[in-house]
Amino acid sequence: MAVPKQHRAAQVVGKDKLQVNTVDTPTPGVSEVLIKVSASGVCYSDHFAAAGIMGPGAEGKIVPGHEVVGHIVAAGAGVAKEWAENTLVGLGWNGGYCGTCANCRKGDFTACAGGRVTGITQNGGHAEFVVADQSALVRLPEDAGMSHAEMAPLLCAGNTVWEALQCSGAKGGDVVIVSGLGGLGHLAIQYARKLGFYVVAVSGSPDKEELAKKLGAHVYFSAKDDLKKEIKEKLGGAAAAIATAPSAEAISSLVPLLGRRGMVVVVGVPTDGKPIEVNPMDLISSIGGVRGMTCGYAAENEASIRFSVQHGVKSMVTEYPLDKAQEAYDDVMGGKPRFRNVIVFK
Ligand SMILES: [Zn+2]
Ligand SMILES: [Zn+2]
Repeated sequence: MAVPKQHRAAQVVGKDKLQVNTVDTPTPGVSEVLIKVSASGVCYSDHFAAAGIMGPGAEGKIVPGHEVVGHIVAAGAGVAKEWAENTLVGLGWNGGYCGTCANCRKGDFTACAGGRVTGITQNGGHAEFVVADQSALVRLPEDAGMSHAEMAPLLCAGNTVWEALQCSGAKGGDVVIVSGLGGLGHLAIQYARKLGFYVVAVSGSPDKEELAKKLGAHVYFSAKDDLKKEIKEKLGGAAAAIATAPSAEAISSLVPLLGRRGMVVVVGVPTDGKPIEVNPMDLISSIGGVRGMTCGYAAENEASIRFSVQHGVKSMVTEYPLDKAQEAYDDVMGGKPRFRNVIVFK
């Protein structure tokens, strides 16, 4: 396609302030492609860019967005043949890796010393066009059975909870708790069910039982229920607990519910800024643990998206036009969206 010389992008211009500006369309450099964006999910982590906590923030007029879906429209020198024009690709949190630093040489690409993060250290997808390194590209199916808006959140929210379930040590038939029923939790329940776990949904809200069960939970408990009795005593404890609720208290409450060798996997950052509390006896008696997990790199994202397409795991989304990027962002920061907000381009 003919690439326009300029395009529109939502840039960070102040703390938590986005502005849609007309900017020059970049030319892809060595090993880079230019992507015409069709959908870009708004993640709570956009805050790292918009508040200048990571990356150049307002000073660099960074464009947030690390759940990006679009087609390649141009390729720079040295780009592999498979990333040809018109290929549908995704971009997640990992903005590419060097392949030569100590961590990359150990195969730990998300820990690349280059520290490239889409929409944080380099421009992301809240724009009509974005440049990406080929090492960050996620191949997406054209016949996924879901819209680009529905696919976008799978690139960060979806992959993060997928990786959490993969690293948890839980096996088919095991009891797995999903704590929290928002953007991450509603995907975690679907993955956990389709992976063959006995899925226990726990939420702070008492009115989410119907939703949790519709998404695939076998049982539902409100945080006010006697969880120790229901999960630890009656079910023998959880092999894994995926902590998506952004609350230190909610995360801490999962540790006493672990069964033998159980693992709490933390993926939600507490918005109250409080540390989690763990009673050592709970860890020793279960010989369990608490660990964190983040979004994976491109090939790991392809695996979780392949699974999502095969098993119909979909994100529930609210679509916004680029002009309403600020509204979509504020909504997420205020914890208002039921699931995921996605900026879409027609
Ligand atoms: Zn994210
Ligand atoms: Zn590296």
